[in-house]
Amino acid sequence: MANQTLVLIKPDGLKKSLTGNILTRLSETKLDIIASKIVQVSRELALEHYQHMKDKPFFDELIKYIMGHYHKKKVMALVYWGEDAINKVRQICGSTNPEEAETISIRGQYGRITTKGVYENVMHASTNESEAEREIKLWFNPDELIIDVYPTKKIKLSKTERVWT
Ligand code: UDP
Ligand code: MG
Repeated sequence: MANQTLVLIKPDGLKKSLTGNILTRLSETKLDIIASKIVQVSRELALEHYQHMKDKPFFDELIKYIMGHYHKKKVMALVYWGEDAINKVRQICGSTNPEEAETISIRGQYGRITTKGVYENVMHASTNESEAEREIKLWFNPDELIIDVYPTKKIKLSKTERVWT
């Protein structure tokens, strides 16, 4: 069954110039990229993304890490779509702990554990369909995806927008 998954190249991945390597590895899956962008992660977005980790002792460090406190203040966000996308991406990504991740997985190849105990594992990948849905909706607006992977509706907003001069 086709599904969709959120991939983030985390600030350490960008700082280490791993974008090309990571995207090349992920292209082995033959999945389609249906959205991509560079994001400066706000504290609100970081807190929301890692809400399930809020009771962990390393939570504050994790928030600083994803916001780019220790590296570049940016993240590359992508949505991959296709047959069994969630599992295929997760497989190449590797286990959470970079020292336990399979050596040839992306995290196994490029991740490290910091002296503060945070797993700097260079990328994020959704683990299941409900997590993927929550995360894709958090990181992207419907118009930023080239396929309607979830139902949408139209509402009229009268807000001020910034446009090119
Ligand atoms: N993390 C960590 N130490 C841990 C567990 C997690 O530093 O013991 C960090 C790591 O960067 C991980 C993120 O918190 O990617 C989210 O944790 P989760 O358990 O959701 O792992 P993931 O889904 O990213 O493999
Ligand atoms: Mg997770």
